[in-house]
Amino acid sequence: MPFPSRGYAALSSTSPLSLFHFVRRDPRADDVVIEILYCGICHSDLHNVRNDWGYSKYPMVPGHEIVGRVIQIGASVTKFKVDDAVGVGCLVDSCRTCQPCQKGDEQFCVKQPTYGYGSLDRHDGQATQGGFSDVIVVSQDFVLRIPNGLELSRAAPLLCAGITTWSPLKRAHITKGSQVAVVGLGGLGHMAVKLAKGLGAEVTLITRSHDKAEAAQALGIDHVALSGDKKSMSALRGRFDLILDTIPQAHDVNPYMGLLTHGGKLVLVGYFGPLEPPLNTSPLIFGQRSLEGSLIGGIAETQAMLDFCAEHHISADIELMPVQDINTAFERMERSDVKYRFVIDLQTLASL
Ligand SMILES: [Zn+2]
Ligand SMILES: [Zn+2]
Repeated sequence: MPFPSRGYAALSSTSPLSLFHFVRRDPRADDVVIEILYCGICHSDLHNVRNDWGYSKYPMVPGHEIVGRVIQIGASVTKFKVDDAVGVGCLVDSCRTCQPCQKGDEQFCVKQPTYGYGSLDRHDGQATQGGFSDVIVVSQDFVLRIPNGLELSRAAPLLCAGITTWSPLKRAHITKGSQVAVVGLGGLGHMAVKLAKGLGAEVTLITRSHDKAEAAQALGIDHVALSGDKKSMSALRGRFDLILDTIPQAHDVNPYMGLLTHGGKLVLVGYFGPLEPPLNTSPLIFGQRSLEGSLIGGIAETQAMLDFCAEHHISADIELMPVQDINTAFERMERSDVKYRFVIDLQTLASL
């Protein structure tokens, strides 16, 4: 039987999210049915709701930092049982046979991964709908286990903000003694700081905001540099193995490239589109430095990140909101008025 579901949906690029009734698919043999408890709000939810990237379809239930409990499993499900604490991130399916899928990089599936919302299901063509809802049906291969010891509401942002920053840290082999800089201190930035510290790196926050510089002390950051202060920026020249740039809009990366060591890299995780002003390639050529992009992470990699977080007691700093305040949360996020991630409590849907 299909699952009647309730969520908060955008009906157009200009309408606020409102209560929306829809139907989740009849669970297939490999499906896990999850009662959604919490879902974090990511900047890309806002971009999608407003059709900033030009391909949004409505009605749209956004949300891709989902944590909940298993309430039903299909006949061939072996990885989960009823009552397990589980998570779902951006990805809910992929072709599973192409080279990236075989390597565990499902986010780069050559036949397009299926996203938790804004995609069409590969089997029945139904539009997928995301996590600001009460229930979701997902193939077991795209469901993550939330290890014991992680508080469920604070684990939700790990499903996007966590994996987005974890993947480039691991690819750069960040370990004890590595020098890492994080540019920007929002949802992504604060996870980057916590994960880099967890891996043993010495971490510097680069921010233009005095307020954020002060707040960063509470995250256990080692050093703070104000990007507008030329003297403290030039003192950092040649220092970093990795710079994680989490700024979510067009900006100038040139001041950061010279801060990398020979062979170091700057990884963009928060923004896609043209950089302004254009990139000066001299620091790349003369220091063999590189500029890279990174997109979430694969399923196995996401599970490894969650296990690491449980072991090292790492989770997001959140502000928990009832679902009826979701539009306020979106507005406040746009003004950067959040430390550091809004998480919606979907159990509040029951009272509406
Ligand atoms: Zn996201
Ligand atoms: Zn594939």
